[in-house]
Order: sequence, then C-alpha cells, then structure tokens
Amino acid sequence: MEHILTINNLTKRFGPITAVDNLSFTIEKGNVYGILGPNGSGKSTTLGIVLNVVNRTAGEFSWFDGAMDTHEALKRVGAIIERPNFYPYMTAVQNLELVCKIKGVDTDKVDEKLEAVGLLDRKDSKFRTFSLGMKQRLAIASALLNDPEILILDEPTNGLDPQGIHQIRQIIKEIAAQGTTILLASHLLDEVEKVCTHVVILRKGASLYSGRVDGMNASHGFFILESNDMEQLKATLESLPSIDKIKSEGEQLVAYLNQPMDATELNQLMHQKGIVLSHLVKRKESLEEQFLEITNNLN
Ligand code: ADP
Ligand code: MG
Repeated sequence: MEHILTINNLTKRFGPITAVDNLSFTIEKGNVYGILGPNGSGKSTTLGIVLNVVNRTAGEFSWFDGAMDTHEALKRVGAIIERPNFYPYMTAVQNLELVCKIKGVDTDKVDEKLEAVGLLDRKDSKFRTFSLGMKQRLAIASALLNDPEILILDEPTNGLDPQGIHQIRQIIKEIAAQGTTILLASHLLDEVEKVCTHVVILRKGASLYSGRVDGMNASHGFFILESNDMEQLKATLESLPSIDKIKSEGEQLVAYLNQPMDATELNQLMHQKGIVLSHLVKRKESLEEQFLEITNNLN
C-alpha cells in the first residue's frame, strides 16, 4: 500500500492552547479521508501544518513515504484551505489559465477540469456572476489543474445551500472514483458519512477514533429489557458471554451486545432459564448517537 501522507505524534501549540495534540494517522492512496470534529478541534491547523503554512511545535509528517522534500511533494497536492479568490471581472477560463501560468502547468487541461466540476457551460461567464457554490466548484477545478495525487479541502460545503452542498459532495465522490485520494475537514458527521471511506475524529486536537467510517458503526446494538424479577434478569444477563455491559434505566435494563444476537434468540435463552420478559426491544445506536458518545464522553 502506497502512503500519501504519514503523520506521527504531531503537536501544535498557540501559546497556552494545544490546537493539535500528539496526532498520528496515515493516508493511503485511493481512499477518501475525513477529519471530523467540532469547531476549534484543530482540523484547519492540521491541514495547515502538512501544507507548510503553519509551523509545527513537535512531531513529524512525511509525504509520499519521504521520497522527496515537502516543497517538491506539495507540487503533487491540490488544496483549498481558504475562500476561493479569483479575479471578479475575468471569466472562469481566464482565471484558470492564469492559475496555470502561476503554477507552471499547461493550459490544455482547463476545459477538462471545468467539465469535472460541471462548469464547462459557464466557462465564459465572469467570476463575479457565479453563485457561492459555483465559486467553490471553480476553486476545486483550479486545485485539480496539476492532476494532483491528493485533493485537500477544508470545510468544502460551508455556507452553501442544500443544492450547492449536494453538487460539491457529488463532485468529490466523482473525483475520488477516478482514483484521486481525498482529505477533507468537516464538522458535519453527515458529510463525512456520505462522502468518506475513512475518518479521524478530533476533539481538542486529539484523535478519538481513526479508521473506516463503517467501522465506527460496528456496534451490534442493545436490548431494552424488563421482567418481574429484575435481580434474576440482571444476574442471567451478566452470565451471557454475548452481553458486554448492562445499565439500569428507570425500571428497565439496557444490555449491550458484543456480538450479533437477535431478539428471538435472547427471548428463547431467557425462557430456558425460567425468566419471563415483560418487555423486550432491540435497538441499534445511530452513527450520530455513537459520534456524540465518542465526542462527549470525555468531557
Ligand atoms: P478547526 O479548524 O477544527 O475549527 P482550528 O485548527 O482552526 O480548528 O483551531 C484549533 C485551535 O487553535 C482553536 O482553539 C483556535 O482558536 C486555535 N488557533 C488556530 N489558529 C490560531 C492562531 N493563528 N493563533 C492562535 N490560536 C489559533
Ligand atoms: Mg477550520
């Protein structure tokens, strides 16, 4: 597996504030990564460090397995970390041609990149006539001009209307489908869930979870139970290897599974042990509930 970016024990302090706290993760080619966390959790600072616009306090990062220095490596990276800034009275094409000149890349890719972000039919419109969503899409086209191996986006849908948000997410997925690795920062669980294959969840600069997005949802669910003999119910649940932890909630017990089991199976087991259940419901936490649990529990 080819590593695009490796971050080891990265830390950034701004005076008394630790913006990034001993952060480590690896980006492998072809995946779509999300850095997910509330405002102020260190997402932009992390991106700034690996893009060489913020100095780190401690730790290391290396691009492309250290095969080249950061300056060379960043020529193979496309990034949008600030609001797009183009010349208002120039057209989309003219703006992108100017970017090509500045970056020293051929202008023959301009139409292809405008097509990729759905702006080819507006190529001769002036930038100032563009909606916020179109401006953001032009910025993505601009970041793609050098055919980067990885595209980095900081909160790409912030401030857009629902249609604009949908278009940007669609474009990101299409770019990823063509094989470009993507790293995006977002405070929206929903965005990461819809767009990303992998996620690093940050809270106060530290990683709380790092792995596949579907791995976040690996919970097997839980039962909500009631019986006329709650003591015996609790003791029996405690003896079952498939039950992880048990919580009391009012009159009921909540039993969390550590492996798959359906309600019928549990009901039969309880019946065999002479327990009559007056209430049995199986539930699974939504990703949102799990995310809130991950980010809140350590307060
Ligand atoms: P996010 O992008 O997740 O919203 P940031 O990386 O922007 O978070 O900020 C992380 C923390 O670092 C915040 O507490 C923020 O106030 C602080 N911070 C970011 N940049 C600076 C800076 N240039 N000077 C001082 N503090 C900063
Ligand atoms: Mg930010």
